Amino acid sequence: MFDLNKLLRNNIKQLVPYSSARDEFKGEARIFLDANENSFGSPLPTDYNRYPDPMQWKLKYKLADIKGVPPQHIFIGNGSDEVIDVLYRALCNPGVDNVILCPPTYGMYEVSAHINDVVIRQVSLTEDFQLDMPALQQAIDENTKLIFVCSPNNPTANSINREDIELLLNNFEGILVVDEAYINFARQKTFIQELTEYPNLVVMQTLSKAWGLAALRVGMAFASEDIIQVMNKIKPPYNISQAAQELALQALENIAQVNEWIRETVIERDKLATSLEKLPLVVKVYPSDANFILAKTIDAKAIYQYLVTLGIVVRDRSRVELCAGCLRITVGTPEENEKLIAALADYKIEVGSIK
Ligand SMILES: *Cc1c(COP(=O)(O)O)cnc(C)c1O
Repeated sequence: MFDLNKLLRNNIKQLVPYSSARDEFKGEARIFLDANENSFGSPLPTDYNRYPDPMQWKLKYKLADIKGVPPQHIFIGNGSDEVIDVLYRALCNPGVDNVILCPPTYGMYEVSAHINDVVIRQVSLTEDFQLDMPALQQAIDENTKLIFVCSPNNPTANSINREDIELLLNNFEGILVVDEAYINFARQKTFIQELTEYPNLVVMQTLSKAWGLAALRVGMAFASEDIIQVMNKIKPPYNISQAAQELALQALENIAQVNEWIRETVIERDKLATSLEKLPLVVKVYPSDANFILAKTIDAKAIYQYLVTLGIVVRDRSRVELCAGCLRITVGTPEENEKLIAALADYKIEVGSIK
C-alpha cells in the first residue's frame, strides 16, 4: 500500500515551513509596512517592489483551466530542475535512499541526485529504448523512493509504453515521476488524467519547450494534494518571480499560437526525418514523439564539428549509453531545417568510412 508518510524523510515530516509576511497577512490593506520592501517603488517603468504571491495562485488557476486539474494539485517550480530537487529533498535520506534512473535519459535526474547524495540505481532502457521491466523489478528495494520515467524520452525522442508505466504505478510503493516535458509533440496522451487513480504518481511538465518560455524558468508538477503540500513546504517561499508569473499568465492566453507552432513543428519534424534518412552519412533515424530527432550517423564527432564551422549547433550524444554515433537535432524553422539538410548533404565522407 502506498503511504506518503512512510516515504517522507523525518526532518521534512517535522519541518515548520518559513512563514512569510505574505502568509501572515492575507487581507486587503492600503499601507504595507510588513515586509521591509522599498515603499517608494522600483527604478523601472513597472513596479516590482512588492514580494510576489508565494503560491502563484493566479497562474495555477489558469493552468488548472488548461490542464483540467484542480489548482491544489499543481506545484510550480523555478524550472523542472527545482521540481526534481524538491522531490529528492522530500523523500531521500542522503546516502541511504535510492532513485532508479533509466538511461539514456535526461541528465538532471542524475546530477540532482548527486547533489543531494541520493544513491542512484541505473536500469538501462532496452535496445528499442523501452523500460526493462524485469530489471526494474529486480532493482527496486525498500529504500527505493523514486523512479524517473521520461516520456517522450530525452535524448531518444520516443514515448515509453503506457502499459509499462501503468504496471509500475500499480506495483511500486514509492513515487513514480513521469516527465512529460515533450508531451505537446507526442501521439501519446498525458498521465495528468490518471492522478485520481494513482496516489504515487507525479507528472512533470514545463513551459520551456512547446510554450517557448525557457528563459522564464517555469516548471510544473501535477500530483495528489498531499504530495503538492509537502513540496510547497520545502520550496523557497518566493521561488517564482513576479515577472515570470505575469509573463507566464499572459503567454497562457495565447494557446492558439502555441498550438499552431506545435502543428508546424510536428510537420517539420516528419519532413526533417525523411530528409535525414536519405543522407549517406545517416545510419538510422529513430522515431520521434518530440520536437527533436535522434539520428545515428557514421561519425557524430566529425559531423558535429563540421556543422559548428558552418554556424550550426546540434547536440553530440554519441558518448551516451545506447547512442553511439548519435546526434540530437532540435526541429528548427523550415529555413533552419533546410540549411541543416543542405549542410549535411555537402559533407564529404572520407574514403574508408562505412555507412
Ligand atoms: C527540457 C527538459 C525539461 C525542462 O526543464 P526546465 O528546467 O523546465 O527548463 C525537463 N525534462 C526534460 C526531459 C527536458 O528535456
